[in-house]
Amino acid sequence: MRIDLHTHSTASDGTDTPAELVRNAAAAGLHVVALTDHDTTRGHAEAIAALPEGLTLVTGAELSCRADGVSMHMLAYLFDPEEPALLAERELVRDDRVPRAKTMIAKLNALGVPVTWEQVTRIAGDGSVGRPHIASALVGLGVVPTVSDAFTEDWLADGGRAWVEKHETDPFEAIRLVKAAGGVCVLAHPAAAKRGRTVPESTITELAAAGLDGLEVDHMEHDPDTRARLRGLAGELGLLVTGSSDYHGSRKTVSLGEYTTDPEVYGEITRRATGAFPVPGAGGA
Ligand code: AMP
Ligand code: ZN
Ligand code: FE
Ligand code: FE
Repeated sequence: MRIDLHTHSTASDGTDTPAELVRNAAAAGLHVVALTDHDTTRGHAEAIAALPEGLTLVTGAELSCRADGVSMHMLAYLFDPEEPALLAERELVRDDRVPRAKTMIAKLNALGVPVTWEQVTRIAGDGSVGRPHIASALVGLGVVPTVSDAFTEDWLADGGRAWVEKHETDPFEAIRLVKAAGGVCVLAHPAAAKRGRTVPESTITELAAAGLDGLEVDHMEHDPDTRARLRGLAGELGLLVTGSSDYHGSRKTVSLGEYTTDPEVYGEITRRATGAFPVPGAGGA
């Protein structure tokens, strides 16, 4: 059984529509895929409607969090999407992305880059707007050769010349909200160092004590030594270990199913969740 628990669609900063994503997941030989758009569940309905036979969808979201000035991402699975407190927090984070993107555009304009809000919204559509959309606009303008080249100090990296902070949830509060909505929490790419400062092990220990369920260990941005270290830490703290692609369509080089999660771990995630059930594909659309 091949299980990929972290992907993005056009509901945030991926390039596949939710329907394309589930079709591509089935074509890639996956049996289970989680749709985890940044701070939104908006893609779920379309993904469910298009779900091919033989593929199961795990509904989820990747929540933007920050503690002690360090940004981190919390994967939340199988929570009740209607639960009001978590819904309100997702909306707060998502809505703040709009003025924040506009401020980043103003900073780029001040740096002599003629990018406009119209260009960025054309790229983002109705997806949760983020730096990858602005990065795509910069590629279109010939400012940088690839999306990833926009994530440097010169441009959009954390602390970079055109970077602006966004509202991010305290991760302890995120865990509390997700649990109250019946969901399961896995800390995404905890040691992806090229994105900026990463979460200290002491914080991971505290998050585990606060109810964190797992760590995403097998991820393209973790080298083998880092994975070994994180696996050891997960063992010590009694955390589940997951692996996933963090697929973003053509905005990243990774492919669906390039990293996967053990079926036993997947089973445990589904046993712990009470907010929603995995959706088996009927092959309808
Ligand atoms: P935002 O949520 O708007 O702050 O943008 C952060 C997102 O940008 C992350 O979730 C990744 O999807 C993407 N990202 C971060 N660093 C890179 C990179 N070096 N190359 C490509 N995408 C990146
Ligand atoms: Zn993303
Ligand atoms: Fe992430
Ligand atoms: Fe992600």
